[in-house]
Amino acid sequence: SIRKVAFIGLGIMGLPMAVNLARAGYTVTGHNLSPERVDALVAEGGLRGGSVAGAVADADAVITMVPDSPDVEALLLGADGVFEHARPGTLVIDMSTIRPDVSRAVAAAGTERGFRVLDAPVSGGEAGAVEAALSIMVGGSREDFDAARPLFDVLGTTPVLVGPHGSGQTVKAANQLIVAGNIQLLAEALVFLEAHGVDTEAGLEVLGGGLAGSTVLQRKGAAMRERDFAPGFRIALHDKDMRIVTDSARAAGVAIPLGAQVAQYVAALARQGHGGLDHSALLKIVEGLSGR
Ligand code: NAD
Repeated sequence: SIRKVAFIGLGIMGLPMAVNLARAGYTVTGHNLSPERVDALVAEGGLRGGSVAGAVADADAVITMVPDSPDVEALLLGADGVFEHARPGTLVIDMSTIRPDVSRAVAAAGTERGFRVLDAPVSGGEAGAVEAALSIMVGGSREDFDAARPLFDVLGTTPVLVGPHGSGQTVKAANQLIVAGNIQLLAEALVFLEAHGVDTEAGLEVLGGGLAGSTVLQRKGAAMRERDFAPGFRIALHDKDMRIVTDSARAAGVAIPLGAQVAQYVAALARQGHGGLDHSALLKIVEGLSGR
């Protein structure tokens, strides 16, 4: 059974996830590009890896939570990477959101070297990570899913094996399509209400109780009213994800007309220098188009 976990990538999501594993009794050794994030884990009972090799050397499971596909490729396949330094047989669980094709390729390379690999991207945002309430969409074998299940149960409430390697990432792409569209329409509704002089606090309260209610409205509504765009989930990451969505849709021959349009808005925000803001900053696009 799993006792020692290496956790690589202690950002907005990774740090609270690693802390939850440490609090649940696992020995968690962390590694991150900026060392202050490792200090924060150590303060919560974790250990410092110092390097990828140092973090994974005696781990039973390795979790990676880094930004993008090239980061995962370098981290797992690189000369100083996880597959080079971890013990064969180790569970390697990538929880980053990356391209499904890259995820499949990495899993194939890892499997060939004797590792048990899962893609396990998450939804639920920073709040879901902190509160251990993530949805976890898993691609890989049933046997490896069952082995990783105790970790998933610490990190989230809804771990589901959705299919073979890469399919966790495909489901996550669908998640990002829905969330971006949701935020865009919430932003349009908010500007619409404001332009009519309606009290938006009361407006969003009653909308939240009806069919228009959503997790996006519950989590982001108040901050959007106040134009508080501190991340949360950075526009730069959602831009990466909408690229995954549009590429995957094209490859599969699926029309996503609204999603493709929202992808353009997310990309525009990134180009305008707003990549560091929360994705609820789609509100800026609606304000701009409305001359407000
Ligand atoms: P982040 O930028 O806050 O954190 C990423 C961390 O990875 C950083 O601390 C960075 O130093 C570290 N890192 C990058 N490359 C590394 C390497 N080679 N070795 C060690 N550390 C490395 O990002 P985040 O918001 O935590 O997101 C991480 C992943 O989770 C992304 O793929 C994102 O799309 C996904 N995600 C984010 C959210 C969210 O709400 N923030 C929700 C669900 C999924």
